[in-house]
Amino acid sequence: MTKENSNIYPVFDNSVSRREKELLLNQKSKIIWFTGLSGSGKTTLANALEKNLYEKGFLTQILDGDNIRSGINNNLGFSPEDRMENVRRIAEIAKLLLNSGVICICAFVSPTEDIRNLVCGIAGDEDFIEIYMSTPLEVCERRDVKGLYQKARAGEIKNFTGISAPFEIPKNAALSIDTTNKSVEECVNILLDKVLQEISL
Ligand code: ADP
Repeated sequence: MTKENSNIYPVFDNSVSRREKELLLNQKSKIIWFTGLSGSGKTTLANALEKNLYEKGFLTQILDGDNIRSGINNNLGFSPEDRMENVRRIAEIAKLLLNSGVICICAFVSPTEDIRNLVCGIAGDEDFIEIYMSTPLEVCERRDVKGLYQKARAGEIKNFTGISAPFEIPKNAALSIDTTNKSVEECVNILLDKVLQEISL
């Protein structure tokens, strides 16, 4: 603890507990964490899953790479240090949502085990559901949703995951989904199979 924040006393035993908030919302809060290459389907499935869960009566909040980077983390770049700080802040936000009883759906490339372990360490192992989007690089690159692969190949973007920065295959994923030959609906059903049992009271 630095001198500046040595007079801060965080209170985590709120008068209304997480459990009571979960009961109010009739759900168990979890962090559903999508990891995978750009274009692998994280954002698409996070949104489709949220819509489906909303229709079933679950309260969720999406945290997505571009939204976070254009807002709270707009002072961070893509160096290894900044990637760590980016994800540390995201994990802290996810934990706040978790303690509010909200199901937090996160869509971040989160390319290394170190990064994913950092989140898991902050959020807590038992509340962290890791979904690995295993769509292969060739497919992601062919989609090139945002034109980023072309730029990365041209050397216009440095440290681009899959091209000039590594992606480590997750060791602890609860689920792997390759979207190459599947519809969004099929993928959502695979996700629901896993997730519903975890978030239902
Ligand atoms: P990411 O968030 O991982 O960068 P996006 O969700 O932005 O990826 O992009 C995935 C692209 O792949 C979208 O253009 C989407 O329409 C397409 N796609 C095709 N099939 C699927 C599927 N089954 N699930 C998710 N995305 C799919």
